[in-house]
Amino acid sequence: MRIVKTMAAMLTVGFISTICITCILAFFGPAPAFDDTSDAVTRLHTSGEIGNSGHWANTHCGYYKAFGATSISCSVNVAGETYGVPSLHNELEFVQTLPEWARAKLSEPLGSTTANWRWLLDSRGWPLRALSCTALQEKGQPWIIRCGFGIRMSPDRPVFVPLRPIWQGLAMNTLLYALASIAVYELMSRVIQASRFRRGRCPRCRYDLRFEYRTGCSECGWRCMVSAD
Ligand SMILES: [Zn+2]
Repeated sequence: MRIVKTMAAMLTVGFISTICITCILAFFGPAPAFDDTSDAVTRLHTSGEIGNSGHWANTHCGYYKAFGATSISCSVNVAGETYGVPSLHNELEFVQTLPEWARAKLSEPLGSTTANWRWLLDSRGWPLRALSCTALQEKGQPWIIRCGFGIRMSPDRPVFVPLRPIWQGLAMNTLLYALASIAVYELMSRVIQASRFRRGRCPRCRYDLRFEYRTGCSECGWRCMVSAD
């Protein structure tokens, strides 16, 4: 029963650490990128007529990676009246460079009915991305955030805290931080025990045994079973 409680406590510590570190990365990490000057893993530029409408569309997408942050941004500009948007799913080469969890999200901006918009998928977490958020901006309008809240909502460099779980990353990071907290806990308790031994005290309850370790500790029962044999 005790081991179950310890495991639950460590997993809780792991989960809270994951959320805290992800939020720190959102607050202090790099803002999601939109411009072509920053280092993108891959980029997509397409230009073409939408069907036989006579409207031309320019699509710019970028996939950016930084420490603890991954973002995908797209902008679509259609010359002419409000019309539909080109399918990003057709741009297979670009889509295949994206992480698995991000691909499905590309269908989100396709619901937009305006001609000119920008779309951003931002995710944070280390070592794996644990939380993500999407934001859509129609030309001249404020950003609409889905699953997150804004910190600095400048038109070009919006920064927000993501709240949508990326389950695999969330689980792996939680497990990793739980293991790390067990290691830290073990190390700390060994250091504390060694220091109590050096001072002649009981390593479990700190009761002063005056270096008399053979009979164990009368206060907490440490090693009493062993000494009774
Ligand atoms: Zn004791």
